Amino acid sequence: MSDLVKLTRQGDVAVVTIDNPPVNALSPGVPEGIQAAIEEASKDDQVLGIVVIGAGRTFIAGADIREFIKIVAGERPRIALLPFLLAIEDCPKPVVMAIHGTALGGGLETAMAGHYRVIAPSAQVGQPEVKLGIIPGAGGTQRLPRLAGVTKALEMCALGEPIGAQEALALGIADRVIEGELLAGALAFAREAAGKPAPKTRERNEKLRDFDKGVFTATRELARKTRRGQTAPLAAIDAVEGATRLPFEQGCLREAELFNQCLFSTQSKALIHAFFGERAVSRIPDVPKETLVLEIRRAAVIGAGTMGGGIAMNYANAGIPVILKEVSREALDHGLEVIRKNYANTVKKGRLSQASMDQRMALIAPQLTYDGFDDADIIVEAVFEGMAVKKQVFSEIDRIAKPECILASNTSYLDIDEIASATRRPEMVVGHHFFSPANVMRLMEIVRGKATSTAVLATSMAVARKLNKIGVLAGNAPGFIGNRMLSPYRREAEFLLEEGASVEEVNQALYDFGMPMGPLAMLDLAGLDVGWRVRQEFRHLEKPGVRRPLVEDLLCEMGRFGQKTGRGWSRYDENRKPSPDPEVAALIEEKARGAGIKRRKISTEEIVDRCIFALVNEGAHLLEEGIALRAVDIDIVYLNGYGFPAWRGGPMFYADTVGLKSVLARIEEFEKRHGPELWAPAPLLKRLAEAGEKFESWDARSSK
Ligand code: NAD
Repeated sequence: MSDLVKLTRQGDVAVVTIDNPPVNALSPGVPEGIQAAIEEASKDDQVLGIVVIGAGRTFIAGADIREFIKIVAGERPRIALLPFLLAIEDCPKPVVMAIHGTALGGGLETAMAGHYRVIAPSAQVGQPEVKLGIIPGAGGTQRLPRLAGVTKALEMCALGEPIGAQEALALGIADRVIEGELLAGALAFAREAAGKPAPKTRERNEKLRDFDKGVFTATRELARKTRRGQTAPLAAIDAVEGATRLPFEQGCLREAELFNQCLFSTQSKALIHAFFGERAVSRIPDVPKETLVLEIRRAAVIGAGTMGGGIAMNYANAGIPVILKEVSREALDHGLEVIRKNYANTVKKGRLSQASMDQRMALIAPQLTYDGFDDADIIVEAVFEGMAVKKQVFSEIDRIAKPECILASNTSYLDIDEIASATRRPEMVVGHHFFSPANVMRLMEIVRGKATSTAVLATSMAVARKLNKIGVLAGNAPGFIGNRMLSPYRREAEFLLEEGASVEEVNQALYDFGMPMGPLAMLDLAGLDVGWRVRQEFRHLEKPGVRRPLVEDLLCEMGRFGQKTGRGWSRYDENRKPSPDPEVAALIEEKARGAGIKRRKISTEEIVDRCIFALVNEGAHLLEEGIALRAVDIDIVYLNGYGFPAWRGGPMFYADTVGLKSVLARIEEFEKRHGPELWAPAPLLKRLAEAGEKFESWDARSSK
């Protein structure tokens, strides 16, 4: 037995306690420990039954993901779960799995190898492996349909969403919900089960026969639609289908084969990169863990428009009272109405109770004055995007806010240092760049001005966590990380139109790559006037003689602002369904010909490479300039702020998987054709490619 697992006796029942904090992951030593404990208990004549339970806050929360990484890197697997689970199932005495917290992945697979499962009312169970690009690999796809039925098992394995205790009971995954103390309930259950034949899950074949045969096709369709481009959900469906066709042992072999294919896939590496990336981005080298974190008890938001309303909701959702200030009664009422509608929709969907909605609304104090701002621990400005108005607002709040109050701006592009210069405390000023819709999108860029204090940065990271966001540090440069990279992406999409691709071809190519929508559809959704205003603000920075998109400003001058005006790059009906607009196509062609651009047929591959490698090249510049700390930070920004497909890992990880040499070669091709002003390869990209390295290795070096 290992010290991660303890065996004790409670009268005639043995208790096996898994104690591998923080979440009792199935690290080496845990499965062996459980097996040894069960074996020892089963040999003891005094023992009638065995309970397996987790110490601390959970049962086995899942596999140890780092073990998967080691296997992919070529190490021999140190854990063989399948035989271990068979041994549990073959125990002659009833084994009762007592579940609290979560039993996910390998945790649920272990629980299903017991003869019975009892569960705490708040516990959750599931097979979320697909979220890491893999499938259950220790019989999960074979045992779950035997307990829960084929239809539900398919859904759980293919989509990866967990279920609660009551549903687990109704499905037959759990045998009893224990309302009181879990261990006491489990002991009582074990005593009732003692002496009766213990059912082995792998032999319970009744539910494998009774299901709608169309369910495989239907679930495949659902997975293709909701998990677009991903291979693991389809592999999970194949594995569960195997359970209905093959005897258990062969079903497990089929599962193992599919598991291995998934584990060694690029998609799985990408998803695991994203999983660890979310944790990595919170580390800022010169802001150590011990840095003072200011307490945020009260917040205030200025501007109740698209962003301000969503930001206020974030604070209310976290239980922090928030003042919402506007300039006019009309704007305030409208802002509040949008918030109320958003909450009401969530209530309608059953994801929030009416009482919680009322509580959250009560935490938001709408007003037209600065009353109470002197008490706020943080003030977030979300007024129009213009330097003059921002500076005006910051000079006003500088006079009212207490000295330790954080002054944050939600600006998308503007210079944080210049904004800070309107105050007498630039060290307290920081960018908190939320993404639209702010109450939904998880990304928050934390923009560091030259004077921003480390306490303000540490607190900003803590605020992001509190608001259930992922904070990523960005340097102070126009557009920070995300929007700065978006600009060459957008530019290339528009150049492709001028060179001969249609709006629909460009949109479709990037959609098929895995983006939630094509670049022109995205611009139409955000509003073409947004970029128009930004371009006006930054016109003085444009280099003369460098090619610029020809049509974007014209569209705005024509009042075509995108979805909100029914016309942009595409035409939109009253349900915002797009259709091609011949007027736009003709305008593009006319302007392109006028500028002497040769029109040609453009391949999907070129569309994708031009747009995505434009992101990558700009990303490499950001790294070298120190605007982004690590390549993984850029990836996390793109995954969480722009819907970049997680199974591609983010733009920088994607470039690594293509191979930086190939990326560089393609960029050099574009440079030859379109000139160095647009396409000169970033020096860092060039160095890494020539040294046969990856962005990942650069990250590893820079985080030492
Ligand atoms: P918006 O026009 O929807 O809202 C701005 C609001 O600020 C208006 O309701 C206006 O009445 C109010 N306002 C103006 N001056 C004010 C003042 N002195 N005091 C109080 N209220 C004032 O704009 P938005 O889209 O919410 O953008 C706000 C900020 O967020 C901008 O800096 C923008 O760049 C940034 N941002 C926008 C998005 C987006 O997608 N819309 C995303 C990220 C960041």
